[in-house]
Amino acid sequence: MIEEKLKQIGDNTSIQTMTPISGGDINQAYYIKTEKQEYFVKANRNTADDFFQVEADGLERIRSTQAIAVPEVYYYDKSSSNKEMVLIMEWIQGEKTATTEQQLGEQLASMHLTDRSAQYGLGKPTYIGKLPQTNGWYSDWVEYFRDHRLQLQLDLSVKFNRMNQKRRLKLETLIRDLDKYLPNQPRVSLLHGDLWGGNWITGQAGKPYLIDPSVLYGDHLFELAFTELFGGFSEVFYSKYKEILSLEDYYEEVKPIYQLFYLLVHLNMFGEAYGAVVDRILKKYIR
Ligand code: ADP
Repeated sequence: MIEEKLKQIGDNTSIQTMTPISGGDINQAYYIKTEKQEYFVKANRNTADDFFQVEADGLERIRSTQAIAVPEVYYYDKSSSNKEMVLIMEWIQGEKTATTEQQLGEQLASMHLTDRSAQYGLGKPTYIGKLPQTNGWYSDWVEYFRDHRLQLQLDLSVKFNRMNQKRRLKLETLIRDLDKYLPNQPRVSLLHGDLWGGNWITGQAGKPYLIDPSVLYGDHLFELAFTELFGGFSEVFYSKYKEILSLEDYYEEVKPIYQLFYLLVHLNMFGEAYGAVVDRILKKYIR
């Protein structure tokens, strides 16, 4: 089956190696080597029809800034009829060098500086992890963040039974008062949108690549806040980033709210292990 798809992208040579790759928690991933070329292939039987298309679109949007590298996408299935969907892309492999994380900081900041949108959000739905992420274009960042980020996760958490009364009331209050805490008109940046340490990899000559995006246009501090949540980014990354694009003074005040979004996603996807840290953040803002 994969041979057919490789043929469609012009590789008629035979497969020499096919090795499963661990690390991703959503799809099966494989290293495939044909006589002609190496590939990274993701396969999935239970995703929405547009799952890989959304991933490919996000990578393309990042690539178009020309600020930072992403793997080239060769092929993706646009619809499934009960069969396995695949995404075929460039195989990236390399060793970190002394400048890899410097480049990552500089290039991410450059990407955040190439604003190509006058509005916040995105014109179409995406995914965050495997959860559907609704979107829309907004002239006000707080409204976008309220409707499509916190409220959406609150609704899901009620549906998935992840809320208790106290947590729910606090989150509802925070959502209602969000204007008090977040900026309405921050710089509009293209954001990777799911930038934890596992979503950047190193290629040839130590060049950093972004993978697995969930793109949107919004406050660059939202991206930075997530990089800090689970680690995987060094001091030199932050210092280089800040040389290109400084962090607004209110960063420390907004950071927990931006992290809260990702923690709610984790609460919804993985359960109560993330409940205590969600409650700790809510307590900071709502007594
Ligand atoms: P998932 O969508 O299941 O989360 P990922 O995109 O995170 O899968 O990929 C799983 C693992 O494969 C990652 O941890 C990463 O190290 C590796 N990987 C991802 N893309 C490439 C690539 N283009 N080339 C080589 N390895 C990759």
